[in-house]
Amino acid sequence: MPNINQRAIQVEQTVWNLKPLFENDDDPRMDERRRIVEQISYEFITTWKERTDYLENPVILRQALDHYEAWKRLYGSDGDEGYYFWLRTQQNQNAPKLKAKFNKIEEFSKKIENDSQFFHLRIARIKPEVQKRFLNDNALTPYRHYLERIFVEARYHLSEPEEKILNLKSATSYSNWTKMTAGFLSKESRTVITEGGSRKPRTFTELLGLMNNTKKKVRASAAKAFNEILKSHVDSAEAEINSVLANKKTDDELRGALRPDTLRHLTDDIESEVVDALIDSVSKRFTISERYYELKAKLFNVRRLEYHERNMELSVVTKHYSYAKSVTLVHAALGKLDAQFADIFSGFLRNGQIDVYPRKGKDTGAFCIYHLLAQPTYILLNHTGKLHDVLTLAHELGHGINNELIRKKQHALDFGTPASTAEVASTFMEDFVLQEILREADDALRLAIMMQKLNDDVSSIFRQVACYRFEQELHSEFRKRGYLSKNEIGELFQKHMASYMGRFVEQSPGSENWWVYWNHIRYFFYVYSYASGLLISKSLQNSVKQERAFISRVKEFLSSGLSDSPKNIFLKLRIDIADKHFWNRGLDEVEKLLNETVLLAEKLGKINRR
Ligand SMILES: [Zn+2]
Repeated sequence: MPNINQRAIQVEQTVWNLKPLFENDDDPRMDERRRIVEQISYEFITTWKERTDYLENPVILRQALDHYEAWKRLYGSDGDEGYYFWLRTQQNQNAPKLKAKFNKIEEFSKKIENDSQFFHLRIARIKPEVQKRFLNDNALTPYRHYLERIFVEARYHLSEPEEKILNLKSATSYSNWTKMTAGFLSKESRTVITEGGSRKPRTFTELLGLMNNTKKKVRASAAKAFNEILKSHVDSAEAEINSVLANKKTDDELRGALRPDTLRHLTDDIESEVVDALIDSVSKRFTISERYYELKAKLFNVRRLEYHERNMELSVVTKHYSYAKSVTLVHAALGKLDAQFADIFSGFLRNGQIDVYPRKGKDTGAFCIYHLLAQPTYILLNHTGKLHDVLTLAHELGHGINNELIRKKQHALDFGTPASTAEVASTFMEDFVLQEILREADDALRLAIMMQKLNDDVSSIFRQVACYRFEQELHSEFRKRGYLSKNEIGELFQKHMASYMGRFVEQSPGSENWWVYWNHIRYFFYVYSYASGLLISKSLQNSVKQERAFISRVKEFLSSGLSDSPKNIFLKLRIDIADKHFWNRGLDEVEKLLNETVLLAEKLGKINRR
């Protein structure tokens, strides 16, 4: 095990240091640097625009791709200026001057993007027999998967004029419909009982939060209002969702996609057999989520939870974690895993890559961002000292560490992560840090934290998989019957929600309409990625706990970026993610946490021993 430096770490810089990009918003070097971006970009464009030899000769295609890669690595279409002003607008969202500068560079970049689009499009149109030859050619080895991704997507592309028509019509055939439902809901508000006991008007989003309130009266009042709102819009949502399903069916038929989820898997660079193995493994173990709700119902002393009560908190964790303390804690946890993880974090701290505290105008969320391979990673937080903030730090650092590992090993065209595994590193670090926190907590605090953690795991894994199966049946029933009424959709929805919640959550009257506001189902099969990221992470955690040396394989995976599909990357590490055992190891981790939580609740006398 590496040496752990347990000393408190000095944290001096808590606002981004953007000097590696520019000195300030009016840095006089900006114009000059923009001219260089333009010059380098058009050097690439003019070199290759009139040529076609690279579409036939692999050695020349290699030269073209090397040229493309070097451009994308250092300059891209917006250079440092685009990144700099994007970051500045996140720090201050109410500054028109920054917005204006960002828009200007966007406009500049759009033109270059359009002028360079030919390159990607022409490669996509390479004939299938030539594609095959290229994929096996040694000259193109470094770009093999990059080309593979383009070729596979191209299989589902229609002709240029057809694509253009679909594109022009997509607002009226799809997004206007979904925006309509979302728009109706977001305008709603109702007068409900608030925390203090008085009745006050609350918006649709606020109602969602109030349904988790620790006071029964507040929860019930919010749920009643929420269900009324959904009911009042269910007729228009029925028309909307039927159009959305019809449009998706047409698209799939035109493109030749065999399954409604084929194009999703393609976009995420994941094989359908891998997603199928995930969905199947999780569905077979819905008893885990059912047992979690049983425990929760017992802790709340009710026979069954109502549908809207499944996310309410056992008790609010009030322990305070200063940023300095959080940093020390997370640094030590990362160091225990691997010295390089802790070093990368130290580098972020030293170089001012983390913007820590909330400020007026600053983005209120948390993220980790990278742009070009040659530019630094930045992390934005809004640290207020809650337990959640410590975990957010660990989560975003997971993304950051992932970026740095990819940066060291991959070229600019493979710098990134597919959606299917984007959340592996983040949840991996988050879970290890949580274990450190649990180690120093007393029993009562441990129980509260473990229940909260299980709640998150159940929502990310079991609920999303149940939703995926709902989507599968929704599309197949629509394709069989041609139209689905609100009652039919509601029945289907309740069936799948009941399948993972089990006997201890009531499918309360009104909950049959909750699909109305679930916007993820409008993006088609996106929800599996919450489960895949977290379960891959948990399966890897399970292996690391059994054998510390396994961490080197985890690092190998985290360094791979877009260089191959997740399935092939793992196969090289002798791990088969199309095998159910892999997913079950991840599910074992959730079950273990559940068993520990049940024992702790019994020990504390909160529930009766079985
Ligand atoms: Zn994340």
